[in-house]
Amino acid sequence: MKKACYIGGEWVTCAEYSPLYSPYSGQEIAQIPQADTHTVQKAIAAAEDATSVIRRLPAYQRAVLLEKISILMNERLEEAARIIAVEAGKPIKTARGEVIRTIQTYKFAAEEAKRLHGETVPLDAAIGGEGRIAYTVREPLGVVGAITPFNFPMNLVAHKVGPALAAGNTVVLKPASQTPLSALFLAELAEQAGMPAGAFNVVTGSGAVVGDQLVTDPRVRAVTFTGSPAVGMDIRNRAGLKRVTLELGSNSAVIVDRDVQLSEVIPRCIFGAFAYSGQVCISVQRIYVVQELYGEFVRRFVAEALTLRGGDSLSEDADYSAMIHPAETQRALDWIEEAKQQGARVECGGKVMGRMLQPTVLTGVPADAKVSCQEVFGPVVLINPIESVQHGIKLVNDSRYGLQAGVYTNHLGLALQAADELQVGGVIINDIPTFRVDHMPYGGVKESGMGREGVKYAMEELTELKLVVVKR
Ligand code: NAP
Repeated sequence: MKKACYIGGEWVTCAEYSPLYSPYSGQEIAQIPQADTHTVQKAIAAAEDATSVIRRLPAYQRAVLLEKISILMNERLEEAARIIAVEAGKPIKTARGEVIRTIQTYKFAAEEAKRLHGETVPLDAAIGGEGRIAYTVREPLGVVGAITPFNFPMNLVAHKVGPALAAGNTVVLKPASQTPLSALFLAELAEQAGMPAGAFNVVTGSGAVVGDQLVTDPRVRAVTFTGSPAVGMDIRNRAGLKRVTLELGSNSAVIVDRDVQLSEVIPRCIFGAFAYSGQVCISVQRIYVVQELYGEFVRRFVAEALTLRGGDSLSEDADYSAMIHPAETQRALDWIEEAKQQGARVECGGKVMGRMLQPTVLTGVPADAKVSCQEVFGPVVLINPIESVQHGIKLVNDSRYGLQAGVYTNHLGLALQAADELQVGGVIINDIPTFRVDHMPYGGVKESGMGREGVKYAMEELTELKLVVVKR
């Protein structure tokens, strides 16, 4: 099946195509256009031409367009979930959950389109400011370049496209090479919703060609990127004075204090560690458990991990499937091996069945092993003992990353201390760091990124504050 890019409201073929393979079966599933610089230029020009149309649309009409996308996606929910399952190897149950969230994200964007406003500024608070009225407005930036990863190909795209359009910008989207079909599906919905030509464009192809041009072309006013820290930092270095939002990786951790209900904590930690084979930016990678619960926690956690079932991503029974690429599976295996060499114990997993890495639990992992201090982005979790919650906070903070952290405790004082001291973008008390709903502010500190998403917050990143002063 030969696909086409979506540019200026038209489906555009390219000179070059590449096969797209299913992560689970290795079978070819589509032929994807590999846009060259000329095609990217065309998309940026179309988006620039559409800026005057979109910024003049009243807020209620922008809201209607986004609402229509949400409604159309709801009507084709199952089809959308199957696209994700096939191209990303995401188990169909998990893929459906992503589509349900995506529908909500566009709905939030429709609602927020009506709430974009500035404030009045009391200028007479300053000597010399009297006799003037001042207010701010939030103006769209213009063309937004959106570059997205493979792991939530519908919802993380929605977190960029929804807020950008809600705020009156136009968008050129470059999806991850492994997950272009979700983005092209969205283009179909946008077209059906009546999106003005050029307001939303999808250009498929490599990061080096398409991504690079979005980052360097002066007509693109903002780059909103979700992906790996290495690519994110490179984008930041090349983007000059463009607005840049970076949602990057992490090695997220959860702290488990004494006196908690393990029957509640363990299933959540299993979900956090192994949902979509750990290929989630806020996946639970490190679990720190107080000494007195440690033995029981490991025993019960391993028993539960062993009940997870691997299989075809389209099977209703599959809890996990293949990782995104065999090279990624091999990297995770190498890191497990390195931890073993450094004295870690494999409590379960550590083997590959077909293209699937089994859920893997490690204990006794030293802090400098890659599975602890780098982002595994695979179904691998370590469980280490701690003396106290304070000790756990130190270990969580001993990281280059800082996206979200979870703390299970029944002690209000410790919860508040963790909230104060954890160096992350979000502290989740009595749940895992993997908790996210789509309107909350979300983003990281340190090498986990800069800027915030969550529809309202992303709109702040994608607008410029303008001041108006009126002398009476
Ligand atoms: P990735 O390899 O960094 O790719 C992300 C996107 O960047 C893809 O579209 C990729 O295109 C593009 N790209 C690659 N090189 C580029 C360049 N030189 N210039 C511009 N764009 C370029 O990340 P991934 O493997 O898809 O996703 C996994 C990473 O995303 C993990 O680190 C994860 O933690 C992070 N993530 C973070 C969040 C968050 O919200 N904080 C959410 C999800 C994922 P190609 O596919 O064509 O290479």
